[in-house]
Amino acid sequence: MDLTYTPEEEDFRARLREWLRGVLPSLPPKPSPDDWPGRRTYDLGWQRMLYDAGYGDVHWGSSPTLRLIFLEETEKAGAPYVGANFVGLLHAGPTIAAEGTEEQRARWLPPILRGEQVWCQGFSEPDAGSDLAALRTRAWRDGDDYVVSGSKIWTSHAEVADWCELLVRTDPDAPKHRGISWLAMPMDTPGITVRPLRTLAGSAEFAEVFLDEVRVPVANRVGDENDGWRVTMVTLSFERGTAFVGEVVACRRVLVELAREARKNGRWDDPVLRRRLGRLNAEFRALWRLTQWNVSEAEASGGVPGVGGSVFKLRYSHARQDLYDTAADVLGPDALDLDRPWVLDRLSSLSYTIAAGTSQIQHTIVAERILGLPRGR
Ligand SMILES: Cc1cc2nc3c(=O)[nH]c(=O)nc-3n(C[C@H](O)[C@H](O)[C@H](O)COP(=O)(O)OP(=O)(O)OC[C@H]3O[C@@H](n4cnc5c(N)ncnc54)[C@H](O)[C@@H]3O)c2cc1C
Repeated sequence: MDLTYTPEEEDFRARLREWLRGVLPSLPPKPSPDDWPGRRTYDLGWQRMLYDAGYGDVHWGSSPTLRLIFLEETEKAGAPYVGANFVGLLHAGPTIAAEGTEEQRARWLPPILRGEQVWCQGFSEPDAGSDLAALRTRAWRDGDDYVVSGSKIWTSHAEVADWCELLVRTDPDAPKHRGISWLAMPMDTPGITVRPLRTLAGSAEFAEVFLDEVRVPVANRVGDENDGWRVTMVTLSFERGTAFVGEVVACRRVLVELAREARKNGRWDDPVLRRRLGRLNAEFRALWRLTQWNVSEAEASGGVPGVGGSVFKLRYSHARQDLYDTAADVLGPDALDLDRPWVLDRLSSLSYTIAAGTSQIQHTIVAERILGLPRGR
């Protein structure tokens, strides 16, 4: 493990900082959180700027260390995050880059990198979340197409997506992990109905997606037929690897803001609160080191993040909830006012121990794959 940066990496950091300083003041104002078409335009526009400046493929085209530096510096500078490009840049893109054919890479990766297309993730189903391999959305071969019927749920950004990375069951008779295929589905295909779901925090960031005899060309399958589970594991390791780097930087900034607010409103006199802030500070520093460790491990293993991402995801999601619960303590009665800073973040932090694999599932992964404990039944 090597946690130091080379002169080339420090040079990359310096050039990026300089570019961000010049370009960020020219960005248009951020659209409101519920304006999804506006957010799509904004997020794609930012990706286009990154692409034009040579940073478009940093999420999977460069080394894990450069990716870490990129995410750290963009967050520190207050640059936009990937937003609606989350699936394209952090899930589907890296998966296609690793598992797609030459033709598929040439077809799908450039539009993602140029900020032209939004992707969504059609994995979960009403009865297949933690037990994702239980998914039942069915795909039959009919000539050069699959005919897909079933339903997906919690599909983030489905309403504004052009493409969906879709898991389907292509062999219902095979053991459940062996009958799944990974398809790229255009979201404007006839037979797709998107029904938005409203969250506790009031936003409609995900949706149910109903599929009624949707025709998807066989050429849109990534990986072999019935080998989709292995392809999916590549996707999920990216999701749990470096996807939250920018957020750790942001959480460390929130901690400083909380301490300032507590000093202003008198809560700083409470030694219990001060202790909580101190403990959280140590926790996020440790999470940052863990991130660097994971990146260093990924670097050593050819760029693909390993199961260390599960340790990070587990610890981070709880630390994030703790952070915003502490924010509520700092705010006092104002913690009920949705217009105050941190209040919506507190509500959305509840989803962190569910999304991208629940904490219970991460515990199982850590127990079985890192600690080598016997497999559960
Ligand atoms: C903000 C957010 C965004 C999301 N975006 C997407 C998306 O874009 N695309 C997509 O496909 N999905 C998405 N999801 C869905 C997410 O992947 C699932 O919610 C998650 O995998 C859990 O599945 P579930 O909701 O069906 O819960 P369940 O699997 O039903 O779990 C219910 C409870 O049982 C526990 N449990 C289940 N099985 C076990 C077990 N074997 N051992 C111990 N405990 C267990 C769980 O930990 C949990 O506490 C999103 C979720 C959230 C919250």
